[in-house]
Amino acid sequence: MNRQKRIPVCEPLLAGREEEYVLEAVRSGWISSAGKYIPAFEEAFSRYCGAKHGIAVCNGTVALHLALVAAGVGKGAEVIMPDFTMIASAAAVAYVGARPVFVDAERETWNIDALQIEERINSRTSAIMVVHIYGHACAMDEIRKVARKYNLLIVEDAAEAHGAEYQGKRTGSLGDIAAFSFFANKIVSTGEGGMVLTNNDELAQRCRYFKNLCFPLNRDRTYLHEHVGFNYRMSNLHAALGLAQTERAELYVSARRRINSLYRERLKNLPGIIFQAEFEGCRNVYWMNGIVVDRQVNGIDRDSLMRKLSDRGIETRRFFGGMHHQPALAQYGSYKEDSFPVSDWLMKNGLYLPSGSGLTDEDIDWVCEAIETIVLKRESHT
Ligand SMILES: *Cc1c(COP(=O)(O)O)cnc(C)c1O
Repeated sequence: MNRQKRIPVCEPLLAGREEEYVLEAVRSGWISSAGKYIPAFEEAFSRYCGAKHGIAVCNGTVALHLALVAAGVGKGAEVIMPDFTMIASAAAVAYVGARPVFVDAERETWNIDALQIEERINSRTSAIMVVHIYGHACAMDEIRKVARKYNLLIVEDAAEAHGAEYQGKRTGSLGDIAAFSFFANKIVSTGEGGMVLTNNDELAQRCRYFKNLCFPLNRDRTYLHEHVGFNYRMSNLHAALGLAQTERAELYVSARRRINSLYRERLKNLPGIIFQAEFEGCRNVYWMNGIVVDRQVNGIDRDSLMRKLSDRGIETRRFFGGMHHQPALAQYGSYKEDSFPVSDWLMKNGLYLPSGSGLTDEDIDWVCEAIETIVLKRESHT
Protein backbone atom coordinates (compact mmCIF):
# COMPACT_ATOMS: atom_id res chain seq x y z
CA MET A 1 0.00 0.00 0.00
CA ASN A 2 1.23 3.46 -0.86
CA ARG A 3 1.48 5.07 2.56
CA GLN A 4 2.37 8.51 1.24
CA LYS A 5 -0.98 9.10 -0.34
CA ARG A 6 -3.39 11.18 1.74
CA ILE A 7 -6.75 12.26 0.41
CA PRO A 8 -8.37 15.17 2.26
CA VAL A 9 -12.14 15.40 2.54
CA CYS A 10 -12.20 18.84 0.93
CA GLU A 11 -9.62 21.46 -0.01
CA PRO A 12 -10.07 24.78 -1.81
CA LEU A 13 -8.85 25.08 -5.38
CA LEU A 14 -7.20 28.46 -6.08
CA ALA A 15 -6.08 28.00 -9.65
CA GLY A 16 -7.70 31.03 -11.27
CA ARG A 17 -6.86 34.71 -10.89
CA GLU A 18 -6.97 34.68 -7.04
CA GLU A 19 -3.29 35.53 -6.59
CA GLU A 20 -3.38 38.30 -9.20
CA TYR A 21 -6.44 40.00 -7.70
CA VAL A 22 -5.31 39.72 -4.07
CA LEU A 23 -1.88 41.08 -4.98
CA GLU A 24 -3.52 43.93 -6.83
CA ALA A 25 -5.62 44.72 -3.75
CA VAL A 26 -2.53 44.67 -1.51
CA ARG A 27 -0.52 46.86 -3.87
CA SER A 28 -3.36 49.35 -4.19
CA GLY A 29 -3.54 49.71 -0.41
CA TRP A 30 -7.30 48.99 -0.42
CA ILE A 31 -7.42 46.20 2.10
CA SER A 32 -10.40 47.14 4.29
CA SER A 33 -14.05 47.04 3.35
CA ALA A 34 -13.75 49.79 0.77
CA GLY A 35 -12.22 48.91 -2.59
CA LYS A 36 -13.30 47.83 -6.01
CA TYR A 37 -13.41 44.09 -5.45
CA ILE A 38 -16.36 44.25 -3.07
CA PRO A 39 -18.93 45.66 -5.53
CA ALA A 40 -17.31 43.58 -8.32
CA PHE A 41 -17.71 40.36 -6.32
CA GLU A 42 -21.25 41.26 -5.22
CA GLU A 43 -22.20 41.98 -8.80
CA ALA A 44 -20.56 38.85 -10.24
CA PHE A 45 -21.88 36.42 -7.64
CA SER A 46 -25.44 37.78 -7.58
CA ARG A 47 -25.53 37.65 -11.38
CA TYR A 48 -24.26 34.08 -11.28
CA CYS A 49 -27.15 33.15 -9.00
CA GLY A 50 -29.74 35.17 -10.88
CA ALA A 51 -30.48 37.54 -8.00
CA LYS A 52 -30.74 41.32 -8.25
CA HIS A 53 -28.73 42.31 -5.14
CA GLY A 54 -25.69 40.85 -3.39
CA ILE A 55 -24.46 42.09 -0.01
CA ALA A 56 -21.03 40.73 0.96
CA VAL A 57 -20.41 39.93 4.63
CA CYS A 58 -17.69 38.22 6.66
CA ASN A 59 -19.13 34.69 6.91
CA GLY A 60 -22.19 32.58 6.17
CA THR A 61 -23.51 32.53 9.73
CA VAL A 62 -23.77 36.32 9.89
CA ALA A 63 -25.25 36.34 6.38
CA LEU A 64 -28.13 34.26 7.80
CA HIS A 65 -28.43 36.54 10.83
CA LEU A 66 -28.44 39.66 8.65
CA ALA A 67 -31.08 38.17 6.34
CA LEU A 68 -33.39 37.49 9.31
CA VAL A 69 -32.81 40.95 10.79
CA ALA A 70 -33.47 42.63 7.43
CA ALA A 71 -36.63 40.58 6.98
CA GLY A 72 -37.88 41.63 10.42
CA VAL A 73 -37.92 38.15 11.96
CA GLY A 74 -37.52 38.80 15.68
CA LYS A 75 -38.56 38.06 19.24
CA GLY A 76 -41.57 35.81 19.64
CA ALA A 77 -41.54 34.62 16.04
CA GLU A 78 -41.18 30.99 14.99
CA VAL A 79 -39.10 29.86 12.05
CA ILE A 80 -39.71 26.47 10.50
CA MET A 81 -36.49 24.79 9.45
CA PRO A 82 -34.95 21.37 8.85
CA ASP A 83 -33.78 19.25 11.78
CA PHE A 84 -31.01 17.89 9.57
CA THR A 85 -28.72 20.86 8.99
CA MET A 86 -25.58 22.52 10.29
CA ILE A 87 -25.83 24.38 13.59
CA ALA A 88 -25.39 27.85 12.02
CA SER A 89 -28.88 27.73 10.46
CA ALA A 90 -30.49 27.37 13.89
CA ALA A 91 -28.01 29.69 15.62
CA ALA A 92 -29.05 32.55 13.34
CA VAL A 93 -32.69 32.06 14.36
CA ALA A 94 -31.66 32.08 18.03
CA TYR A 95 -29.67 35.33 17.53
CA VAL A 96 -32.82 37.25 16.61
CA GLY A 97 -34.74 35.85 19.57
CA ALA A 98 -37.00 33.68 17.45
CA ARG A 99 -37.76 30.01 18.02
CA PRO A 100 -36.51 27.41 15.54
CA VAL A 101 -39.13 24.72 14.87
CA PHE A 102 -37.71 21.56 13.36
CA VAL A 103 -39.03 19.34 10.59
CA ASP A 104 -37.66 15.91 9.67
CA ALA A 105 -35.68 15.23 6.50
CA GLU A 106 -37.00 13.65 3.34
CA ARG A 107 -35.46 10.23 2.69
CA GLU A 108 -34.02 10.72 -0.80
CA THR A 109 -32.75 14.30 -1.00
CA TRP A 110 -32.12 14.62 2.76
CA ASN A 111 -33.72 18.09 2.60
CA ILE A 112 -36.58 19.36 4.76
CA ASP A 113 -39.69 17.24 4.14
CA ALA A 114 -41.99 19.81 2.53
CA LEU A 115 -45.05 17.70 3.31
CA GLN A 116 -44.48 18.01 7.06
CA ILE A 117 -44.21 21.81 7.14
CA GLU A 118 -47.87 22.76 7.28
CA GLU A 119 -48.58 20.86 10.50
CA ARG A 120 -45.90 22.94 12.31
CA ILE A 121 -47.42 26.31 11.38
CA ASN A 122 -49.20 28.40 14.01
CA SER A 123 -50.03 32.09 14.53
CA ARG A 124 -46.43 32.90 15.55
CA THR A 125 -44.81 31.34 12.47
CA SER A 126 -43.21 34.05 10.34
CA ALA A 127 -40.74 32.30 8.06
CA ILE A 128 -39.60 29.01 6.55
CA MET A 129 -35.85 28.56 6.35
CA VAL A 130 -34.94 26.07 3.65
CA VAL A 131 -31.43 24.56 3.60
CA HIS A 132 -30.30 23.06 0.30
CA ILE A 133 -28.43 20.15 1.86
CA TYR A 134 -25.12 19.15 0.22
CA GLY A 135 -26.11 20.96 -2.98
CA HIS A 136 -29.62 19.67 -3.70
CA ALA A 137 -32.34 22.34 -3.94
CA CYS A 138 -35.37 21.87 -1.68
CA ALA A 139 -38.86 21.11 -3.05
CA MET A 140 -39.59 24.78 -3.69
CA ASP A 141 -42.95 24.34 -5.46
CA GLU A 142 -44.49 22.68 -2.42
CA ILE A 143 -42.75 25.03 -0.02
CA ARG A 144 -43.86 28.15 -1.91
CA LYS A 145 -47.42 26.87 -1.91
CA VAL A 146 -47.47 26.61 1.90
CA ALA A 147 -45.63 29.95 2.29
CA ARG A 148 -48.19 31.70 0.11
CA LYS A 149 -51.13 30.13 1.91
CA TYR A 150 -49.93 31.36 5.33
CA ASN A 151 -48.11 34.51 4.15
CA LEU A 152 -44.68 33.31 5.31
CA LEU A 153 -41.29 34.54 4.23
CA ILE A 154 -38.87 32.08 2.60
CA VAL A 155 -35.24 32.36 3.70
CA GLU A 156 -32.74 30.18 1.85
CA ASP A 157 -29.64 28.84 3.55
CA ALA A 158 -27.72 28.18 0.35
CA ALA A 159 -24.31 27.79 2.05
CA GLU A 160 -23.83 24.35 0.48
CA ALA A 161 -25.44 24.98 -2.88
CA HIS A 162 -23.52 27.47 -5.05
CA GLY A 163 -24.79 26.99 -8.58
CA ALA A 164 -27.46 24.42 -7.70
CA GLU A 165 -30.60 24.66 -9.80
CA TYR A 166 -34.31 24.12 -9.39
CA GLN A 167 -36.39 24.17 -12.56
CA GLY A 168 -33.73 26.21 -14.35
CA LYS A 169 -33.29 28.80 -11.60
CA ARG A 170 -30.36 28.96 -9.23
CA THR A 171 -30.43 28.71 -5.46
CA GLY A 172 -30.18 32.18 -3.95
CA SER A 173 -33.01 33.35 -6.17
CA LEU A 174 -35.68 30.84 -5.08
CA GLY A 175 -37.10 32.59 -2.00
CA ASP A 176 -37.36 36.11 -0.56
CA ILE A 177 -33.82 36.34 0.74
CA ALA A 178 -30.84 33.98 0.76
CA ALA A 179 -27.52 33.48 2.55
CA PHE A 180 -24.33 31.94 1.17
CA SER A 181 -21.10 30.93 2.89
CA PHE A 182 -17.65 31.13 1.30
CA PHE A 183 -15.86 29.14 3.99
CA ALA A 184 -12.72 27.29 2.84
CA ASN A 185 -14.51 24.06 1.98
CA LYS A 186 -17.48 25.58 0.15
CA ILE A 187 -17.73 25.38 -3.65
CA VAL A 188 -16.93 29.09 -4.07
CA SER A 189 -14.57 30.16 -1.30
CA THR A 190 -12.92 33.25 0.15
CA GLY A 191 -11.49 31.39 3.17
CA GLU A 192 -14.06 33.06 5.41
CA GLY A 193 -16.90 34.99 3.86
CA GLY A 194 -20.58 35.17 3.08
CA MET A 195 -23.21 36.98 1.05
CA VAL A 196 -26.89 37.82 1.29
CA LEU A 197 -28.84 37.76 -1.98
CA THR A 198 -32.28 39.15 -2.67
CA ASN A 199 -34.43 40.50 -5.49
CA ASN A 200 -36.17 42.86 -3.07
CA ASP A 201 -34.80 46.44 -3.12
CA GLU A 202 -35.96 47.25 0.38
CA LEU A 203 -34.50 44.09 1.94
CA ALA A 204 -31.20 44.82 0.19
CA GLN A 205 -31.13 48.36 1.61
CA ARG A 206 -31.82 47.07 5.09
CA CYS A 207 -28.98 44.52 4.76
CA ARG A 208 -26.54 47.26 3.74
CA TYR A 209 -27.71 49.40 6.63
CA PHE A 210 -27.52 46.74 9.36
CA LYS A 211 -24.25 45.21 8.16
CA ASN A 212 -22.43 48.52 8.67
CA LEU A 213 -23.44 49.45 12.24
CA CYS A 214 -26.51 51.28 10.93
CA PHE A 215 -24.50 54.18 9.61
CA PRO A 216 -27.03 56.18 7.58
CA LEU A 217 -26.97 55.02 3.95
CA ASN A 218 -27.04 58.64 2.75
CA ARG A 219 -23.54 59.09 4.21
CA ASP A 220 -24.75 61.67 6.67
CA ARG A 221 -21.80 62.41 8.96
CA THR A 222 -23.55 63.44 12.16
CA TYR A 223 -22.66 60.04 13.67
CA LEU A 224 -26.08 59.61 15.16
CA HIS A 225 -27.47 56.08 14.83
CA GLU A 226 -31.16 55.23 14.82
CA HIS A 227 -30.61 51.50 15.43
CA VAL A 228 -28.04 49.14 16.87
CA GLY A 229 -26.34 47.49 13.92
CA PHE A 230 -23.53 45.03 13.28
CA ASN A 231 -20.10 45.15 11.71
CA TYR A 232 -20.45 42.30 9.24
CA ARG A 233 -18.33 43.88 6.48
CA MET A 234 -16.16 41.78 4.16
CA SER A 235 -12.63 42.97 3.32
CA ASN A 236 -11.48 43.86 -0.17
CA LEU A 237 -8.87 41.07 0.08
CA HIS A 238 -11.56 38.45 0.59
CA ALA A 239 -13.68 39.94 -2.16
CA ALA A 240 -10.67 39.73 -4.51
CA LEU A 241 -10.55 35.97 -3.83
CA GLY A 242 -14.31 35.76 -4.27
CA LEU A 243 -14.33 37.46 -7.65
CA ALA A 244 -11.65 35.10 -8.98
CA GLN A 245 -13.56 32.10 -7.57
CA THR A 246 -16.85 33.23 -9.07
CA GLU A 247 -15.26 33.51 -12.50
CA ARG A 248 -14.64 29.77 -12.28
CA ALA A 249 -17.78 28.73 -10.41
CA GLU A 250 -19.15 26.65 -13.30
CA LEU A 251 -15.84 24.78 -13.52
CA TYR A 252 -16.07 23.89 -9.85
CA VAL A 253 -19.67 22.78 -10.23
CA SER A 254 -18.81 20.50 -13.13
CA ALA A 255 -15.85 19.12 -11.16
CA ARG A 256 -18.18 18.34 -8.26
CA ARG A 257 -20.69 16.66 -10.56
CA ARG A 258 -18.01 14.66 -12.35
CA ILE A 259 -16.60 13.40 -9.04
CA ASN A 260 -20.08 12.33 -7.98
CA SER A 261 -20.73 10.42 -11.17
CA LEU A 262 -17.40 8.62 -10.85
CA TYR A 263 -18.22 7.53 -7.29
CA ARG A 264 -21.73 6.52 -8.25
CA GLU A 265 -20.68 4.51 -11.28
CA ARG A 266 -17.93 2.71 -9.45
CA LEU A 267 -19.88 1.97 -6.26
CA LYS A 268 -23.33 1.33 -7.72
CA ASN A 269 -23.24 -2.41 -7.16
CA LEU A 270 -21.90 -2.20 -3.65
CA PRO A 271 -24.59 -3.46 -1.25
CA GLY A 272 -25.82 -1.24 1.55
CA ILE A 273 -24.46 2.09 0.21
CA ILE A 274 -26.94 4.88 -0.61
CA PHE A 275 -26.17 8.17 -2.42
CA GLN A 276 -28.12 11.43 -2.28
CA ALA A 277 -30.74 11.61 -5.02
CA GLU A 278 -30.93 14.12 -7.84
CA PHE A 279 -34.61 14.84 -8.48
CA GLU A 280 -35.94 15.70 -11.90
CA GLY A 281 -35.61 19.41 -12.68
CA CYS A 282 -32.79 19.81 -10.15
CA ARG A 283 -29.07 20.25 -10.63
CA ASN A 284 -27.38 18.83 -7.53
CA VAL A 285 -23.91 20.40 -7.18
CA TYR A 286 -22.69 17.74 -4.70
CA TRP A 287 -20.84 20.10 -2.38
CA MET A 288 -20.15 16.91 -0.47
CA ASN A 289 -20.51 13.35 -1.65
CA GLY A 290 -22.53 12.00 1.19
CA ILE A 291 -23.21 8.28 1.43
CA VAL A 292 -25.35 6.41 3.90
CA VAL A 293 -24.22 2.97 5.04
CA ASP A 294 -27.77 1.70 5.24
CA ARG A 295 -26.97 -1.78 6.49
CA GLN A 296 -23.90 -3.66 7.56
CA VAL A 297 -22.21 -5.78 4.95
CA ASN A 298 -19.57 -8.18 6.26
CA GLY A 299 -19.88 -6.48 9.63
CA ILE A 300 -18.85 -3.06 8.24
CA ASP A 301 -20.91 -0.14 9.50
CA ARG A 302 -20.38 3.62 9.06
CA ASP A 303 -17.86 3.99 11.86
CA SER A 304 -15.75 0.98 10.94
CA LEU A 305 -15.73 2.08 7.29
CA MET A 306 -14.52 5.53 8.31
CA ARG A 307 -11.83 4.07 10.56
CA LYS A 308 -10.54 1.73 7.88
CA LEU A 309 -10.51 4.49 5.27
CA SER A 310 -8.59 6.71 7.65
CA ASP A 311 -5.99 3.92 8.08
CA ARG A 312 -5.48 4.20 4.33
CA GLY A 313 -5.00 7.99 4.43
CA ILE A 314 -8.51 8.73 3.23
CA GLU A 315 -10.23 11.47 5.18
CA THR A 316 -14.00 11.35 5.70
CA ARG A 317 -16.46 13.14 7.99
CA ARG A 318 -19.66 12.12 9.72
CA PHE A 319 -22.89 13.85 8.82
CA PHE A 320 -24.04 16.47 11.28
CA GLY A 321 -26.27 15.63 14.22
CA GLY A 322 -29.90 16.72 14.08
CA MET A 323 -30.87 19.99 15.73
CA HIS A 324 -33.19 18.31 18.23
CA HIS A 325 -30.15 16.56 19.71
CA GLN A 326 -28.26 19.80 20.32
CA PRO A 327 -27.98 20.63 24.03
CA ALA A 328 -27.66 24.32 23.10
CA LEU A 329 -31.10 24.27 21.47
CA ALA A 330 -32.96 22.28 24.15
CA GLN A 331 -34.65 25.48 25.39
CA TYR A 332 -36.62 25.68 22.12
CA GLY A 333 -38.67 22.62 22.87
CA SER A 334 -38.37 18.95 23.55
CA TYR A 335 -39.33 16.38 20.99
CA LYS A 336 -40.39 12.76 21.40
CA GLU A 337 -37.67 10.14 20.95
CA ASP A 338 -38.78 9.09 17.46
CA SER A 339 -39.90 12.44 16.04
CA PHE A 340 -37.13 12.65 13.43
CA PRO A 341 -36.52 9.14 12.10
CA VAL A 342 -34.88 10.19 8.83
CA SER A 343 -32.63 12.80 10.42
CA ASP A 344 -31.56 10.21 13.01
CA TRP A 345 -30.90 7.63 10.29
CA LEU A 346 -28.67 10.14 8.47
CA MET A 347 -26.80 11.11 11.61
CA LYS A 348 -26.15 7.50 12.53
CA ASN A 349 -25.14 6.16 9.13
CA GLY A 350 -23.97 9.05 6.95
CA LEU A 351 -20.46 10.09 5.97
CA TYR A 352 -18.85 12.35 3.39
CA LEU A 353 -16.35 10.95 0.97
CA PRO A 354 -13.51 13.20 -0.27
CA SER A 355 -15.22 15.81 -2.44
CA GLY A 356 -12.90 18.74 -3.23
CA SER A 357 -13.00 20.16 -6.77
CA GLY A 358 -9.30 19.39 -7.23
CA LEU A 359 -9.58 15.61 -6.83
CA THR A 360 -8.33 13.60 -9.82
CA ASP A 361 -9.86 10.50 -11.38
CA GLU A 362 -6.98 8.58 -9.84
CA ASP A 363 -7.86 9.87 -6.37
CA ILE A 364 -11.47 8.76 -6.77
CA ASP A 365 -10.29 5.41 -8.04
CA TRP A 366 -8.09 5.02 -4.99
CA VAL A 367 -10.98 5.83 -2.65
CA CYS A 368 -13.40 3.47 -4.43
CA GLU A 369 -10.86 0.66 -4.48
CA ALA A 370 -10.41 1.12 -0.74
CA ILE A 371 -14.16 1.07 -0.08
CA GLU A 372 -14.66 -2.07 -2.15
CA THR A 373 -11.76 -3.77 -0.43
CA ILE A 374 -13.11 -2.91 3.01
CA VAL A 375 -16.78 -3.70 2.41
CA LEU A 376 -16.28 -6.82 0.34
CA LYS A 377 -13.29 -7.94 2.46
CA ARG A 378 -11.29 -8.39 -0.72
CA GLU A 379 -7.52 -8.59 -0.97
CA SER A 380 -6.05 -5.17 -1.72
CA HIS A 381 -4.39 -4.93 -5.14
CA THR A 382 -2.48 -1.77 -4.32
C1 LIG B 1 -21.18 26.30 6.09
C2 LIG B 1 -22.59 26.48 6.47
C3 LIG B 1 -23.04 27.63 7.13
C4 LIG B 1 -22.14 28.65 7.80
O1 LIG B 1 -21.21 29.27 7.08
P1 LIG B 1 -19.92 29.92 7.76
O2 LIG B 1 -19.36 30.72 6.65
O3 LIG B 1 -19.03 28.81 8.19
O4 LIG B 1 -20.37 30.77 8.89
C5 LIG B 1 -24.40 27.79 7.33
N1 LIG B 1 -25.28 26.86 6.92
C6 LIG B 1 -24.89 25.73 6.32
C7 LIG B 1 -25.92 24.75 5.89
C8 LIG B 1 -23.52 25.48 6.09
O5 LIG B 1 -23.14 24.34 5.51
